[in-house]
Amino acid sequence: MKIICIGRNYADHAKEMNAAVPSEPVFFLKPDTSLLKEGSDFYYPDFTQDLHYECEVVVRIDKVGKNIAEKFAHKYYSSISLGIDFTARDLQQKCKEKGLPWEIGKAFEHSAPLSNTFLSKNDLNLNQLEFELHQNGKTVQKGNTKDMIFSIDQIIAYVSRFMTLKTGDLIYTGTPVGVGPVAIGDALEGYIGSTKMFRFDVK
Ligand code: MG
Repeated sequence: MKIICIGRNYADHAKEMNAAVPSEPVFFLKPDTSLLKEGSDFYYPDFTQDLHYECEVVVRIDKVGKNIAEKFAHKYYSSISLGIDFTARDLQQKCKEKGLPWEIGKAFEHSAPLSNTFLSKNDLNLNQLEFELHQNGKTVQKGNTKDMIFSIDQIIAYVSRFMTLKTGDLIYTGTPVGVGPVAIGDALEGYIGSTKMFRFDVK
């Protein structure tokens, strides 16, 4: 299983990162050891002083596919969830400045918390899905999939040109504006609409 993460998929987030809005999807991978299932705590890593949350809608692939046409992409997933793309912003920034890959800032152990709840896409309007992240009870990110630069189907078509998508693969579809630092003791709670999807405690 691989975790595919889309970068800069919301224009307001690209702006807050001083990054250009991309003309093609930007993606990177996290290994399966990044996954942190709900019910487990997250332990603040000792190699960063600037860990950020990025709340993201997550798609689970449930059929093997390669070179998937955008118009058929909807056949390759049936449910979505919500997760966090944890980012060691200080390490990522160093890598960016040197033009190096980002893995140490993105692909570390448990950097991809994920809700245990998956919602059927048939019950949702994926083109207009509201989601939120609360940090210690305060709303810090409020997103809507209508603001995605590249839709889920466009992402699947693009990524599958380069690599086979397999059953169980997860796609983190990018984060909206409002990313920020996490501290030990924080409670992070994610919502899709009014459905509570997860709570992760930072230890
Ligand atoms: Mg992200």
